[in-house]
Amino acid sequence: MGSGIGFRGVGGFVVVLLAAVAVLVAGQSVQAAAVALVGGVAAVLLALGSGEENVAPAPADAAPALRAGLQELFDAIAEPVLLVRGGGVDLANRAARTLLGEHIVGEDVRVAIRHPAAAERLAGPDPAPSEGAIALVGVGGLDQQWEMRLGAASDGTRIVHLVDTTGARAAERMRVDFVANASHELRTPLASILGFVETLSDSAGEDPAIRTRFLRIMGDEAQRMQRLVEDLISLSRIEADKYRAPSTPIDLAALVESVCAELRDAGGARGQDLACTADVDLPPVAGDVAQLSQLLHNLAGNALKYGRAGTPVTLRLEREGTGLVRLTIADQGDGISPEHIPRLTERFYRVDAGRSRALGGTGLGLAIVKHIVERHRGRLDIASRSGEGTTVTVTLPLSQPPSQTVSQFRNGDAAGL
Ligand code: ADP
Repeated sequence: MGSGIGFRGVGGFVVVLLAAVAVLVAGQSVQAAAVALVGGVAAVLLALGSGEENVAPAPADAAPALRAGLQELFDAIAEPVLLVRGGGVDLANRAARTLLGEHIVGEDVRVAIRHPAAAERLAGPDPAPSEGAIALVGVGGLDQQWEMRLGAASDGTRIVHLVDTTGARAAERMRVDFVANASHELRTPLASILGFVETLSDSAGEDPAIRTRFLRIMGDEAQRMQRLVEDLISLSRIEADKYRAPSTPIDLAALVESVCAELRDAGGARGQDLACTADVDLPPVAGDVAQLSQLLHNLAGNALKYGRAGTPVTLRLEREGTGLVRLTIADQGDGISPEHIPRLTERFYRVDAGRSRALGGTGLGLAIVKHIVERHRGRLDIASRSGEGTTVTVTLPLSQPPSQTVSQFRNGDAAGL
């Protein structure tokens, strides 16, 4: 091993630095550039450690202390990274050994990764930094998906970086499913409206009784489409604001009072079963008034819809600890079986689609609630017992620091609204 890093060593580092910058410029992530940088530096150091910068040396030639240091550096990278020299795996970090097996160091890289697309790429010439990554399906598990990115150091060492894309692919699938579901939900009432328009245009339209009945059905279907479009717009607006915390101080008790009054007025006989209470002197919540109103409408609306007719629906707002406010909405309906509960906030997930549609549901209400709660840095809990009813709890942070508000609050005070 030389006593210092000579001109060629410095040249190697410059090439590596340029390669990392090229990876970044080529539109890949900062993380990919960092891996290219660490991998490239490691390759140059290994070459210097072996005393031969341009010849691929045997791995054992590198000074053990240098190798151990590099190994430690590599192990700190969370994603699998391999250094490949002369077609064999020279260095593999912990994540790579966990994924591909401890035996891979020293193996032919095509045997270590065992994937036809990877083998083909690894057998080919050095890729340009801008060259697209390739997708590997099934490495490490049938449902796992990886992206293999390749870099090359000045001495011919290749840096193989595997990026886990399982989560990103699942999110993409969810997006595609969402578009398919939304189109299907819109197409059904639209097909019904078009069918009735056609029927009314011929002789059936001349009968006043038939015409009135068909027009009523068409109106209902159009309203169903309208509710769906409004919920889709709400969902996309809330998602667009996801990372912007709402900051307006909201008097939640007053909002609960006004939403309860609206639901009582609009809810017919069922509206009279709604009982709302709130602690007095509750400090404000930092929020978005339109979104919190929508949350109350959706949750109380569900409790009224799915609760048994004639049984009470209670909506209670109270302080929790020093910095939180808790909203509890309870009904005495048929309840929800435990296996459905974790999926209720998925878009278009319904326990009983026919019942939901018959009651005017869109299947988006709880997905909207979940996004509103997340944006308000709150928490949503759904508890239910089959045959007994459902309780939904939303916990939200108060907007003021606890020290300013504690004296105003008289614990246990409650006001009927
Ligand atoms: P929907 O428009 O269908 O009501 P939501 O997203 O609000 O959609 O709710 C999803 C599903 O969760 C509903 O279809 C229903 O099956 C179930 N659900 C929601 N709230 C309740 C409740 N209070 N009691 C029983 N089931 C409920």
